[in-house]
Amino acid sequence: MPIPSDVFPTVATVDLTALAHNLLQLRRFLSPSCDIMAVVKANAYGHGAVETAQALSHQGIVRFAVFSIEEGIALRHAGITASIVILGPVFSQQVEDLFAYRLTPVVSDPALLTLLGQCAARCASPYPIHLKIDTGMGRLGLTQGELETILTNHALPSSLFLEGVMSHLADSDGLEPGPTEQQFHLFDRALKVVREAGFSTPLMHLANSAGIVRFPSAHYSLVRPGIMLYGYHTLPPSVPPPDLRPVLSLTTRVVQLRLIQPGETVSYNRTFMARRPTRIAVLPIGYSSGINRRLSNRGQVLIRGQRATIVGIVCMDMVMVDVTEIHDVAVGDEVVLIGQQGTERITAQDIAEWTGTISYEVLCAISHKIPRLYCSS
Ligand SMILES: *Cc1c(COP(=O)(O)O)cnc(C)c1O
Repeated sequence: MPIPSDVFPTVATVDLTALAHNLLQLRRFLSPSCDIMAVVKANAYGHGAVETAQALSHQGIVRFAVFSIEEGIALRHAGITASIVILGPVFSQQVEDLFAYRLTPVVSDPALLTLLGQCAARCASPYPIHLKIDTGMGRLGLTQGELETILTNHALPSSLFLEGVMSHLADSDGLEPGPTEQQFHLFDRALKVVREAGFSTPLMHLANSAGIVRFPSAHYSLVRPGIMLYGYHTLPPSVPPPDLRPVLSLTTRVVQLRLIQPGETVSYNRTFMARRPTRIAVLPIGYSSGINRRLSNRGQVLIRGQRATIVGIVCMDMVMVDVTEIHDVAVGDEVVLIGQQGTERITAQDIAEWTGTISYEVLCAISHKIPRLYCSS
């Protein structure tokens, strides 16, 4: 049920038109035979996994990726019938759920194959799995040696269907393309092992968002965009980015205004002291909602189309801004933390720069307790 925006002072508005636009921009890089697996892990990077997946389904997406079995189950409970790949590890205690909810595991651990094979033997047809090869990320993934052992020693149970082979790029947004090209080389070697062992894998996938834009040879048969669907990128300045639109806006409202005098301070530890008569607006959002404490005395928000700087330390559920220069600010005024107001705009990338992180973390940090509103622009 849609939530009326005036009931909650703070809302994250998700623009589904911008989401569809970003998807279209990514599709323009792909050949018609290359499919998209939309990455909706971490609550779709803070945008709401269920609603994002539903919106992307309407745009023709039939494959999703999440990190955990729990995330996959939540999508199934919401009625998503598309393929759902579990990128993260699967624990043996979760294998029953994996099958019950028809989730597709990514196997990085040879030991899991036996258990999956036993469970899959009860299924009417071979159960799809993807194998992950480590080609340089140094995280999850089989070594080339483990892959060869599995495929040549018939360690892949016949109750399983090798639907996909994948790897993950470590530096697709880095300055030097060399290490990424080395990963292609290792991935090609792994695919050769798979082919020579007699398997025809319909899905071969390696590229995340930056990989899609930068390395056409990384597309294979499937790509896994995340961040660019949501309107952001971390491409180096030498690479022209696609035309992306930020999907999420975060807004709250002024709850109190006060005038303080020179020498008076704001918030914990008195880190801000007024040097002039200063008008302070109090906002009902803080670090428990994902407003990073590093924004203290640094971050900005938009009120009445103008920038106001955060003064003092960001509190758990409140933050104060200096509105001395902005005329006619009133209690109840809309405050933009991420998004556009008039001609001014603050992006998750701006916040990432103020806090020394990346747009991904800023978006994921937006608390689940903040209602998401879905709109079309
Ligand atoms: C998160 C993730 C992606 C998406 O990466 P973006 O940089 O957000 O496009 C793709 N593949 C794997 C394995 C991931 O974990």
